[in-house]
Amino acid sequence: MSKRKNFLEKTKKILAGRAGYQCSHPSCNIITIGAGEEAHTTSSIGEAAHIYSASLDGPRGQGGLSDDELRTLDNGLWACKNHARLIDTNDGDGFSAEQLKSWKFLHEEKIKTHQGRIQRKSFWLSSLIINQSKVFKNEQTIYFGKVTFVYGGENTSGKSTILNFINSLTSYEALKSRVDNNQSFNYELEFCNPDTNIFSVNSNRGVISSTLNDNIVNFNPIPMAIYRFDLEFRINLYSSELDDQDALTNYLKIDKIKLAGLLNNVGRSKYSQVSKAYIDFQEPSEDDGEFKAGYYLNVILKGCDFALNLASLSSGEKSMVLLELIIELVQTYAKYTQSLLLVNLQSTSFHDSTLSNYLKYFMSGEVDFQTVITSVTKTNCPEVKLTNCYSLVGKVQEVVISPVEH
Ligand SMILES: [Zn+2]
Repeated sequence: MSKRKNFLEKTKKILAGRAGYQCSHPSCNIITIGAGEEAHTTSSIGEAAHIYSASLDGPRGQGGLSDDELRTLDNGLWACKNHARLIDTNDGDGFSAEQLKSWKFLHEEKIKTHQGRIQRKSFWLSSLIINQSKVFKNEQTIYFGKVTFVYGGENTSGKSTILNFINSLTSYEALKSRVDNNQSFNYELEFCNPDTNIFSVNSNRGVISSTLNDNIVNFNPIPMAIYRFDLEFRINLYSSELDDQDALTNYLKIDKIKLAGLLNNVGRSKYSQVSKAYIDFQEPSEDDGEFKAGYYLNVILKGCDFALNLASLSSGEKSMVLLELIIELVQTYAKYTQSLLLVNLQSTSFHDSTLSNYLKYFMSGEVDFQTVITSVTKTNCPEVKLTNCYSLVGKVQEVVISPVEH
């Protein structure tokens, strides 16, 4: 194994510290450091394990990472010697990279909770297995990462099926049209909180039944919040009945006071493309035609020193404003409630460079929730290779979900 892929001492130390010097295996958590034989020594049974392998023929492959990327913090998992060995035996059988990443996330969350830094139980959506549906070929699986990116050119029903199935963790509303059409389908969602749970939904010609960990339930009784947005927002200044304030509160399903709170927070992240956004009252001037008096949003974009009306922004810029408000909204809830964000991008939503920036934002430690992004188009931004990326290919009833190799 080339030395260049080994973790630096500095990296190992940070990995161990972030894990509270405990093994990250969910059912182990043994303390890996303690008193040594001599009065002045410590004894360690911890190791920094590679998520994607350091050697070419190692378990889990190299995930397309370069030597430098293989030894970054992102690719390390702190474990006791037994578990570090276990996850690398049998070619890593049973231990996918996604699974190790979720262990790491859950363990670090557990440590944060012990430190009193967060006040909610950790939550991780692990996988969706579609056993039967009207759209997909049987037995299709998606493993979710911190950010999951699903694209498929022609097939919009595939993307919305995936979003609807995930959405059923909090509401069957998204399944309504399928149920009304007497469709049969069957799928399982696995999530950790931090115990592993399997929520299984079956529709027999529109008659729904579901189980949680093999117990019959009519809905998922574990509280969580799922936020779902189509990143599309139409404001037509001259014909809309609504001013920006009403349009935004409708879109985000929040009240005016919450909106003001979110607007206050916009621009605080280094990933923000909007440096400031505020609502003020505007009255029509003489040549404004049918423009109505009302509360309108003013936006100062990063690198710009003047405010623009929301209505005068390009569709990409409007998407930035909306997405940053959505992130603020979900982040506020995610500190206290197990939360998940689903975003459906439109083809006009973002240029690749803007999307790159937001993928980095979603993957960063500033964001406490998982995000599932669906898109009509494939993106060329390099960050997508750090997400769990899937493409949808095929005609109805035959659509296949394939992981995208980078
Ligand atoms: Zn262990």
